[in-house]
Amino acid sequence: MSGERPVLVINAGSSSVKYRLLVPDSGEVLADGTIERIGEHGGELSHEVGGETHAGDHGAEDIGAALELITEQFATYGPDLDHLDLLAVGHRVVHGGPDFAQPTKITDEVLATLRDLSGLAPLHNPAAVAGIEAARQRFADLPHVAVFDTAFFADLPEVARTYAIPRELAERHRIRRYGFHGTSHDYVAGVARALIKTDGPVRQITFHLGNGCSAAAILDGRPVETSMGLTPLQGLVMGTRSGDVDPGLHSYLYREAGLGPDEVDTLLNKESGLKGLAGVNDFREVLQRRAEDDHDATLAFDVVVHRLTHYLGAYWAILGGLDQVIFTGGIGENSPDLRAAVAAGLAGLGIHVNPERNTAAADRPRVISPDDSGVAVLVVPTDEELAIARQTAALAAS
Ligand code: ADP
Repeated sequence: MSGERPVLVINAGSSSVKYRLLVPDSGEVLADGTIERIGEHGGELSHEVGGETHAGDHGAEDIGAALELITEQFATYGPDLDHLDLLAVGHRVVHGGPDFAQPTKITDEVLATLRDLSGLAPLHNPAAVAGIEAARQRFADLPHVAVFDTAFFADLPEVARTYAIPRELAERHRIRRYGFHGTSHDYVAGVARALIKTDGPVRQITFHLGNGCSAAAILDGRPVETSMGLTPLQGLVMGTRSGDVDPGLHSYLYREAGLGPDEVDTLLNKESGLKGLAGVNDFREVLQRRAEDDHDATLAFDVVVHRLTHYLGAYWAILGGLDQVIFTGGIGENSPDLRAAVAAGLAGLGIHVNPERNTAAADRPRVISPDDSGVAVLVVPTDEELAIARQTAALAAS
């Protein structure tokens, strides 16, 4: 069976590469690692295998060098990749543009199309392309599969994916709402549906809250709305990204602050969100400062909650009611304070969390609402690598 053979999942970002070697059917993780701060000073790496973590420094200048390092980590600490009967390599690709609505086997032609899409995701896709190129050289005999963050949202209803700008311009430049974190939204919504069996179409709202944050409205397993758009900048407040702003802000900043387009892009992507409001992008630090009554951190937390409340209300209306709310991602899974604050503002819609369930430490999928709640609130740890490995295995076997 193909799903019993290990798959190597590679997630290449602009300054880091994460990887995981796992068995798709069982979910067993054979090794896990990261190469961080690529091309910067003080590069760090870690490789976890058999319950032991091997950490160290590195001087990798680019993604190709990082891939070499990963190969070295496996050669030094195991498992031995050349004797594992690897099935395939799965690559996370952030933007699939209009061309890729499904996981796709990578060929030279596919890679060329991915390079063309870099204009749509300049912060993300070039790194994924570099990771694929390097991995195809190292694992030349294996099938490589691209799994896209946008794919789950490819068939968003036309009313949800259309921006009210001139149609001809939108078509020429492939401007639409694409949505991101699709692998995660799809995965956690599926786990929640398996956990709570409901007759008829299930109405779900998923909140993926990590460094990047997004919301999705899902009806009977299919997405009907999502908060990210043409790029992963739209929507919720994130670690360093602003989320929704008035589109007029861009020209205002050109005129009034003398910022150029790239500077505005950097400002909204790298200097905003929690970092812009509270000076730190790590939510744990925001929580800590809020506990010390720091005004900026308290406001940052409140703005995050306000935006979540706003989206939940909107998606409730779009779904025509609600059966399940699902929290996932580093913040969604680990911050009872945030979940309680969101629920507190939505009690009028019948959304409640049980304090003991909400604060109980656990890393499995679980319901945190009271048993008699009309709307089930769940925490579901996401596992994008497992989802990518399964989709990769399914395609590699076909
Ligand atoms: P990424 O989007 O890079 O995968 P994660 O899903 O790991 O990121 O989420 C990172 C965020 O999760 C950070 O803001 C971090 O502070 C937050 N986080 C991690 N653990 C906790 C915790 N115990 N309580 C609150 N926030 C947490």
